[in-house]
Amino acid sequence: MIVKPFSPSPFTLGLEALLARLHPAHPQFPKFEQELKRQQAGDFGEQYIMNELQTLSTDFQLFHNVILPSVFAVQIDILIVTPNGIIILEIKNIKGTVLLKNNPRQLVRTTETGEVTVFTHPEIQLEQYIQGMKHFLQQHNITIPIYGAIVFPFNNVQIQREGEGLPILMAKDLPMYIHTLPLCTESTSIQNITSKIMKNIKTKTPYPLCRYYNIDINSIQMGIRCEKCLHYSMTRQKRTWHCANCQHTCVRAHIQALRDYYMLIGNTITNKQCRQLLNIENTHLAKRILQASCKVRGGSTKNRIYTLPELP
Ligand SMILES: [Zn+2]
Repeated sequence: MIVKPFSPSPFTLGLEALLARLHPAHPQFPKFEQELKRQQAGDFGEQYIMNELQTLSTDFQLFHNVILPSVFAVQIDILIVTPNGIIILEIKNIKGTVLLKNNPRQLVRTTETGEVTVFTHPEIQLEQYIQGMKHFLQQHNITIPIYGAIVFPFNNVQIQREGEGLPILMAKDLPMYIHTLPLCTESTSIQNITSKIMKNIKTKTPYPLCRYYNIDINSIQMGIRCEKCLHYSMTRQKRTWHCANCQHTCVRAHIQALRDYYMLIGNTITNKQCRQLLNIENTHLAKRILQASCKVRGGSTKNRIYTLPELP
């Protein structure tokens, strides 16, 4: 059963918004394109594993992207709670040849074109998450075995490993791995563990990305992008937004622009900033839109600051 379903990484959503609003000639544009591809590949692999696990038995609980408060940072790609133990999966959707080096521990990836990139060995993160989870469960007086595995979703990778360590599995190995875990003698309620996890789950985002990546806000394209032709040519006409380029109309076109603002520039916005963003002059219209979409934070009527809603 899925307790916390798959959702794209906040980096994926933020970088999509960033690339849509950053000029392609910006010096960091290619770097962000690469980063988005990496994030999307990660999401794709995690979504694939979630779908595969969903088709298995129903006697376990499935969570995507679990961040928990603990002595160590716990940021788990996929968490499975079964009557026999908790399984933490670290998903690596990497193509090419992968060498998992032992001393020092590193993941060295070589692509088909011979490009070599060195990453953190996934075992280092996984060990930390296991320790963090142990600590979290201890705090809630729960005793249950904790397992961890590194999972490669697809057969587009050739893996070599130096020495021994935590299990490395292909996605197709997962069903057998889960079903052959040693029987747990502790009588721990899965529902209790699930409710403790859900109650303590944290969200963590890199927003606003302009601050995260140190990008000048003036490099960000303002305006509302037409969802049909992708031009920034939406203008307000009567009670709707109208695209001067392709004639598309949409009543809710400003919503994505405000989400973009939240992900790229900040979680608060003034009437003036809203008018710049939506390319409108009417202060009353901006006020109506902000009152409908935001919580009011403070400031005098003239300089009111609105707080944009958090993204799920
Ligand atoms: Zn259009």
